[in-house]
Amino acid sequence: MNTTNVLFPGYTVGSGLATYEKLGEFCAAYGKKAVVIGGEKALAAIKPVLTEAVKGTDIEIVAFEWYGGVSSYENGDKLLALDTVKNADMIFACGGGKAIDCCKYVAMQSKKPFFTFPTIAATCASTTAIAVMYYPSGVQKDVFVGPRPAIHNFINLDIIAKAPKTYLWAGMGDTLAKYTEVPFCARGLELAHKDNLPVVMSSMTGDPLLKYGTKAMEDAKTGNASFELEQAVLAIILTSGLVSSLIDINLNSSMGHAIFYGMTVLPQIEERHLHGEVVSYGVLCMLMMDKQTEKLDQIYKFMKSIGLPTKLADMEVSIDEIEPVIDSAVTKYDIEVGPYEITKDMMRQAILDLEEYNKTH
Ligand SMILES: [Zn+2]
Repeated sequence: MNTTNVLFPGYTVGSGLATYEKLGEFCAAYGKKAVVIGGEKALAAIKPVLTEAVKGTDIEIVAFEWYGGVSSYENGDKLLALDTVKNADMIFACGGGKAIDCCKYVAMQSKKPFFTFPTIAATCASTTAIAVMYYPSGVQKDVFVGPRPAIHNFINLDIIAKAPKTYLWAGMGDTLAKYTEVPFCARGLELAHKDNLPVVMSSMTGDPLLKYGTKAMEDAKTGNASFELEQAVLAIILTSGLVSSLIDINLNSSMGHAIFYGMTVLPQIEERHLHGEVVSYGVLCMLMMDKQTEKLDQIYKFMKSIGLPTKLADMEVSIDEIEPVIDSAVTKYDIEVGPYEITKDMMRQAILDLEEYNKTH
C-alpha cells in the first residue's frame, strides 16, 4: 500500500469587508504578525480593505511588500532577506498566480504558514500547493510542489469583479480544459479514491461555467459581484484547484494543453494570446476528434458567447501554419495517457473538421 497525503485550504467567498470577518479567528492559531506580499495592483486593491479587516483582531499587518513582478527564486530570496518577512508569523499572499506562487516559495523556505487572497480569477494558484517558477527574464524555469497549500483562501468577489476582464475570460478557458481533459484521460481506467474523486469533481468546473459563465462575464464588465460571478469564480479558483491537488499529474491534462504548447511555436500566439484562451480552442479540437458532439455543441456555444477562439483565424493563425504546431503538440506529455493514442493525422483532421464546423454553427 502506498501512503496518500492530501491537504486542502479552507475557503471564504464573499464581498467587501465581510469576506474577512473570520480572518482573526482563522489566523489566531498561527501567531499575530502577518506580512502581506503581492503584486503592485493587488496590493493597491487589497491594502485599504485588509487594513480595515484586521482592526479589532489580534492580527497585526507588519508590512505590505511587492513580490518583485516575476515568480522567481531570486525574488523569493530577496523577500526572505527582509526583516518584515523574517519577523512575521504568517504570510498573506495576494494577487494573481505569479505573486501567489512566489509566496509559496517564501513560505516553504521560511517554514511559515500562508493564507491566500486572490485578486483575479485567472488560475487556481490560490488553492493549490504547486508553484510555477520563472527565470528573472520571465522565461519559465520549473515547477515545484510545496509542502502544503494555503491554510485558508479568502476570495473577495468585489476585488475580482473590478479586475481586468481578460483574466476571468482566460481563466474560464483553462477551466474548460479541466472539465473535458480529466474525464477523457481517465476514461476506462480503474481508479483509486484519490484519483476517482477529482474525476467526479471535474463536472463542477465546467457545468457552472456553461450555466452562469456568460452572465458572469457581463457582471465582471460592470464590476457586479453577482451570484453568477461567484459560481464562475469558484469553478476557476476553487474546484479546478481541488481537482489539480488530488489527481495524478498524468490525468490532469490532454490534447487541449498539447495543442496550446504546440501553438506557442507561432510568434503571434506567444506575443498576443493567453494560455487559457488557446487551451480552450484545443479543447474544442479534442472534443471534435473524440466525437463528443453534444459537449462540443455546448462548449462551442458558450465560448462564442464570451468571445473565446473557436477557429484558427480567431488566434491570427492560418491553415498553412498548423504543421509545425501539430509536430510539436504530438510530442507533449499531456497526451501520453488517454483512452487511445492521439496521432498527428487525428490532430490535423480535428483542426480541419473544427474549421468546417465553424462555417455551419
Ligand atoms: Zn492550463
